[in-house]
Amino acid sequence: MKIIDVASRLYHIPPTVPWEDATHRVANLEFIITHVTTDAGIVGAGFAYTTGIGGSAILALIDDYCRTMLVGQDPRQIERLWSFLYGQLHRSGTGGINTLALGAIDIALWDIAAKWYDVPLFRLLGARRDSIPTYGSGIDLFLDSDALLNQVDGFLAAGHKAVKIKIGRDNAEEDLDRIVAVKKLIGPTRRLFVDANQRWNVADCMIRLQKLGAFDLGWIEEPLHAEDIRGHADLRGFVALPIAVGESLYTRHQFADYLKANAVDVVQADVCRVGGISEWLKIANLSASFHRTMAPHY
Ligand SMILES: [Mg+2]
Repeated sequence: MKIIDVASRLYHIPPTVPWEDATHRVANLEFIITHVTTDAGIVGAGFAYTTGIGGSAILALIDDYCRTMLVGQDPRQIERLWSFLYGQLHRSGTGGINTLALGAIDIALWDIAAKWYDVPLFRLLGARRDSIPTYGSGIDLFLDSDALLNQVDGFLAAGHKAVKIKIGRDNAEEDLDRIVAVKKLIGPTRRLFVDANQRWNVADCMIRLQKLGAFDLGWIEEPLHAEDIRGHADLRGFVALPIAVGESLYTRHQFADYLKANAVDVVQADVCRVGGISEWLKIANLSASFHRTMAPHY
């Protein structure tokens, strides 16, 4: 089997109202859908996404640069193709739009493999579990209390046993009010996670987190800037609350740095951002060797 074409399309999908977390306003989601066509009649679909920046650059990397490297290759040699493409893309940077482009291709190659072997992807990957726990979450920092509780109600109605909400308002009391209200709604048996989207520095964060200790939260997500590994390690020594990080990391090397520094409890690798399923699995194995839990970001 050989690859005969690679072609992508970029879709802009605005949310009904712009979403806001503690650091970003999302007025436009971008989805890059990549189709890898083979001479066996199998077409693999992969995708990347952004929260509003870089979509056309990702599409150009895939269709203008990677396409010619892929045509004529056997799509089942995923590991070889991944390594080759990563080596080429690395000439213009390590992670970011490069690994997003690579991720769309890698996901399409796994799709081809699953179709070729005629099994669902989870079966092809080894299928450790038959089901996984889920949580409901939204980009909801801008919602008032009624709208937030309404959204959480929807998550519970959909069957989620846990919920994640955004925090990081300017006024710390407003964060606490939101947590109290949601805890009351979901009751004592369901878990609540909170996400600050890199809002604070270590000193601000320690003040904020002291007040959260009483709420039995499942984790605090991205409390500090994603590049502040030392800060996350310091924070872990200061609070009992598990720290979740990973959606803003783009390579296995960045995850290794976090793990070696004892700076993360819950690893949230994003399959698109890290370069696809192949790299996600390596990060999962790396995390397992440090006895850390994975909670995929996407
Ligand atoms: Mg997050």
